[in-house]
Amino acid sequence: MKTKYYNLTSEQTLEKLTSQTTGLTDAQVKERQAQYGPNVLEAKKHTTLLQKFIAQFKDLMIVILMVAALVAMFAGEVSDALIIFLVVILNAVFGVFQEAKAENAIDALQEMTTPYSRVRRNGEILQVKSDELVPGDIVLLEAGDIVPADMRLLSANSLKVEEAALTGESVPVDKDAAVMTETEPPLGEQHNLCFMNTSVTYGTAEAVVFATGMNTQVGHIATMLDEVDNSVTPLQKNITHLSKVLTVLILVIAVVIFVFGVVTGRESVLDMLLTAISLAVAAIPEGLPAIVTITLALGTQAMAKRHALVRKLPAVETLGTTEIIASDKTGTLTQNKMTVEQLYTPQTDLVKASAFEISPEAKLTQIMILANDSQETPDGLVGDPTETALIQYYLDRGLDITQVQKAFPRVDSIPFDSERKMMSALVENNGQTYLMTKGAVDEILRQATQIEENGQIRPLTKADKEKILKVNHDLALEALRVLGFAYKPLTDTTKEKTAKNYENDLIFVGLIGMIDPERPEVKDAVAEAKSAGIRPLMITGDHKDTARAIALRLGIITPEDTAGVITGRELDAMSDEELKQNVDRYSVYARVAPEHKVRIVKAWQAHGKIVAMTGDGVNDAPALKTADIGVGMGITGTEVSKNASDIVLADDNFATIILAVREGRKVFANIQKAIQYLLSANLGEVLTLFMMTMLNWSIFAPVQILWINLVTDTFPAIALGIEKGEKNIMQQKPRGSKSNFLSNGVGSSIIYQGLLEGLLTLGVYWIALNYPFHHTSAQIHADALTMAYATLGVLQLFHAFNSKSIHGTIFRKETFNNKYFNLAVISSAILLAMTIFVPAFNQTFHVTTLALQQWLIVLGAGVLMVLIVEVVKFFQRRFIYQDER
Ligand code: ATP
Repeated sequence: MKTKYYNLTSEQTLEKLTSQTTGLTDAQVKERQAQYGPNVLEAKKHTTLLQKFIAQFKDLMIVILMVAALVAMFAGEVSDALIIFLVVILNAVFGVFQEAKAENAIDALQEMTTPYSRVRRNGEILQVKSDELVPGDIVLLEAGDIVPADMRLLSANSLKVEEAALTGESVPVDKDAAVMTETEPPLGEQHNLCFMNTSVTYGTAEAVVFATGMNTQVGHIATMLDEVDNSVTPLQKNITHLSKVLTVLILVIAVVIFVFGVVTGRESVLDMLLTAISLAVAAIPEGLPAIVTITLALGTQAMAKRHALVRKLPAVETLGTTEIIASDKTGTLTQNKMTVEQLYTPQTDLVKASAFEISPEAKLTQIMILANDSQETPDGLVGDPTETALIQYYLDRGLDITQVQKAFPRVDSIPFDSERKMMSALVENNGQTYLMTKGAVDEILRQATQIEENGQIRPLTKADKEKILKVNHDLALEALRVLGFAYKPLTDTTKEKTAKNYENDLIFVGLIGMIDPERPEVKDAVAEAKSAGIRPLMITGDHKDTARAIALRLGIITPEDTAGVITGRELDAMSDEELKQNVDRYSVYARVAPEHKVRIVKAWQAHGKIVAMTGDGVNDAPALKTADIGVGMGITGTEVSKNASDIVLADDNFATIILAVREGRKVFANIQKAIQYLLSANLGEVLTLFMMTMLNWSIFAPVQILWINLVTDTFPAIALGIEKGEKNIMQQKPRGSKSNFLSNGVGSSIIYQGLLEGLLTLGVYWIALNYPFHHTSAQIHADALTMAYATLGVLQLFHAFNSKSIHGTIFRKETFNNKYFNLAVISSAILLAMTIFVPAFNQTFHVTTLALQQWLIVLGAGVLMVLIVEVVKFFQRRFIYQDER
C-alpha cells in the first residue's frame, strides 16, 4: 500500500524514510541513487544511429530512385546502379551525422540548464543538481524555487505554493507542516506535501523528499511527459514549408523532363526515368531543414561559450531580431556589490561612512544589523547584497555584531517584497518586542509618523519630511541607492505577521546611501546596442534619481533627455492605451514593481517591436513569458524565473545579451547564406537539365547529377553555417519581425544566381558544340557533356565564395577566414576532379578527359560567375543596402 505521508508526523515521515533532520549521509545518498536512479521525468528516448540511418530511406524519392536503380541493374547498367546506391548511402550517412550533431547540441543545452536544489546532507547545507535528489533528502525551499521532487514539509514559514502544473489551480495555496487527519484529501488540499514542478511563490520551508522521478505525482501524469520541449522555430517551420513547395515544383519539372525525353526518344525509358528521379533527388532541398537545425544548434553552443544559455531554440532566431532590451538595473547593469557610502540621521546630518560615529546602542545600528537576513558562514557573508553591505559596514568598523544580535533575538519577520519595497524583523529585548524596518525611503516615510532625534521621539513634521527627501534626492543624484530605517515598540504581537498589520506608525531614525558600481563592460554594450538599432531600457525598483544618474552614466539616456524617466506610480496613472502612445518617450522605469514589466513589454509589442526583458524574481515570470525573449539570470535568478525564460545569462550581465544578439544575427545571416547557396545551385541544376532536354542536347547521366549534388552541396552549405559573421553586423538595423530568410535580397539573389549558373553551364556546352576539339559527333557530344558537368560543379564551388556574404565583396581578406569552409571547398573540388582526372572513374561517370583549353573554358565560366555577381553586389551596396558596406 502507498504510504500516506500527509497522515504521518514529521518524525514518523523521517523514520519511515530512514532519514534525519541533519539530512542523509553521503553513503546513504550513494546507495539510494543506485536504488532509485536519477530524479528525472523520463524524456523522449533517442533513436539509435541505426534507426536514424534507416529513417533516411523513408523519403519517397529515395525509394523510387533505389527501385529504378535496381531495375537498371537487372537491365545491365550495373556500374550506374552501384554508383547510385553509393551516393544514396553516402547521403544517408551525412543525414545521420547531421541529425546526431543537432541532437547532441540540443542535449548539451538541456544539460546546461539543469536546475539546482539546496539540501541538507551530513548536517551541512549544499547545492546539488536536482536530478541527484533521492528519497530521504532534506530540501530547503524558498520563494522562487521550483519544487524538485515530491516532499513532506518538516517546517514552513508562510509558505505558498502555486500548483497549477498539477491541479490547474493558479492561485497559490498555503502550506504548513501540520499533520492531517483526513484520510483521502484531494491533491490540492494536501497542505503538508509539496509536489515536483510546482513553484514556491512566498515564504520558506524545509521538507523531506519521499518520491523522485517517475514516482512523483507529475511522473504519474503520462500526458505531461509529451511536453518535452521539441519546439520548432518559425524559421524551421518556414523552411519545411518552402521545402514542400519546392518538392512539388521540382517533381513537376522532373515529370516534364521525363515525358519530353521519352517522347523525343533520345534515351531509353529507364535511363530517362533515372535521370528525372536523380534530378528530383538532387534538387529537392531535403537537407535544408537539417542544415538550419545544425546552424541554430551550433549558434546555441557559441552563445553558451559567451555565457548566454539558450533554453528554447527559437530564441536563437528571435535574438537576432531584438529591437528593445529592457534590463533590470541591479546586478545586470550594475555589479550588485553594494558598499555603504554615506549615512544620515537628524542629529548628525549627512556624514561620510568612514567618519560616521557608530555605537551598538544607536537605533540606526540596531536596525541595520537586525532587519537583515544575511548570514555569516565560513565562506563569508551570504545574502542579499543590499543587506550584506550593511553588516559588512559594521564588520569593517570593528563592531561586534553578534553582541547586538544576541541582545535582540529575532522572533519573527515580514519578508522583503518588491511591491512594498521594505522588510521588517520582530525582535525582543528585555521583554519588549520591537519592529525593526528598513526599505525605500519614500515608502518608509509613507508609513512613519514620528522621528527620533538625539534619543527623543517627536512627531514627524512636514519640514522633517522635506529635509529627508532632499537628502534622499541628493544622494540619489550621485547614483547611490538609499535605504531608510525606522522602528517601533510593539504593544500587541498577536496579530498575523503581515505588512498591513505592523508596518505603520513607524519612528524614523535615519538613512544611508550605498553605491552599486556599474559593470565596466556595460557602457560599451549599451553603445553597441544603440548602433545596432536596438533601444536599451532600464527597469529598476530603485529611486527615480538614482536610476536616472546611473542611466546617464551608462549612456542609456543623454543629459538632453528630459522626459526619459518614469516611475511606477506614474505608470499606474496611465491607461494601457496612454502608455502605448507614450512608451517611446521613456528609457528608464524607476520604482517599478514586477507587474509593471508586463505592461511595458505589451506597450512596445503593440508597436510591433520585438522585446527582450530580463527578470530574476518569482514575480517576474509573467513578464518573462510575455516578452519575445525572456532573459533569466543564472546567478541571482530564481528557478521559477529561469524556467519562464528563453535564455539565461550565466553571468547575469547585460553585455552578454548584446553578445547573444550579435550571435543571433550571425546565425540568421549564416542560414541565409547557406540557403542562398543551396537553392541557387539547385535552380542552376534544374534549369540546365530542363534546357538540355528541351534543346535536344545530351542530358546529364543520373550519376553525374547525384555526384554534383553530393559533393558540392552538402559540405560548403554546412560550412557556410559556421561562418564567423561579418564585421558590420552590429551596425545594421534589426531586420524586423516580418523579415524571413528570403528577405534582404536573398530571394532575388537565389533566382538570378541560379539562372546565371544554369546559363553559364549551358553556354559552355554550346561553346563545346560549336567550337569542337574532335571530329566525330559522339566525341563532340561527350566532351560537351563532360565540360557542362565540370562547369556546373566548378560554378558551385566558386559560387560558394560568393555566398559568404549576401552583399559584401569577395575581394577581401575575410573570404578565406573560415578554415572549415576552405576545407569543404577543397575536398569537394577533389571529389569532383577525381571523376574526370582519374581514368578509372571516367566510364563510371560517363565523362571524357578534357584538354587544357577545355579546362580553361570551364574555369573561365567560374570566374565569370564571380565577376557578374560582384558587379550586381556592387550596385546593390551602392543603391539598396547602403548600411552594409
Ligand atoms: P532591479 O534593478 O533588478 O529591479 P532593484 O534592487 O532595483 O532591482 P528591488 O530589489 O525591487 O529593485 O528593490 C527596490 C527598492 O527596495 C530598493 O531601491 C530599496 O530601496 C528597497 N530594497 C531593496 N532590497 C531591500 C531589502 N533587502 N530590504 C529592504 N529594502 C530593500
